Amino acid sequence: MDNLASIFRNKKLKLTPQRIAVYKYLQSTKEHPSAETIYKTLQADYPTMSLATVYKALKTLVEVNLIQEINVGEGNFRYDGNVEPHSHIQCLNCGKVDDIEGICFKDLNDKVKDFVNYKVISNQVYFYGICEDCQKNLTD
Ligand SMILES: [Zn+2]
Ligand SMILES: [Zn+2]
Repeated sequence: MDNLASIFRNKKLKLTPQRIAVYKYLQSTKEHPSAETIYKTLQADYPTMSLATVYKALKTLVEVNLIQEINVGEGNFRYDGNVEPHSHIQCLNCGKVDDIEGICFKDLNDKVKDFVNYKVISNQVYFYGICEDCQKNLTD
């Protein structure tokens, strides 16, 4: 992977400590955290960083496609350091969001062409269910 300075330079982004912290954290996790979770996690190292600053850093990073914003419904936004197209599943009990790997929904772009007069570019597929941990807890 390129180093952070050159990634940011390519995107013409100023390297601010806040952006670096948010970006690095998202690269380090597969948890798809919300802005609030990112804010709370980074607070130990960046006690002066406000939630508004976290939101601003996220917005900027989404705009230049360094991270992706996932909307799992009802304004429930999560953030993902993996910008490759992939699908997500959310647990309806605990709210966690996981990647779905090894299955590709790109074919859907072709399929929907039969139904709309659009040049189809991308799609987002979200699944909902009960995660493994919750399945265990719910049956206890
Ligand atoms: Zn769960
Ligand atoms: Zn993901």
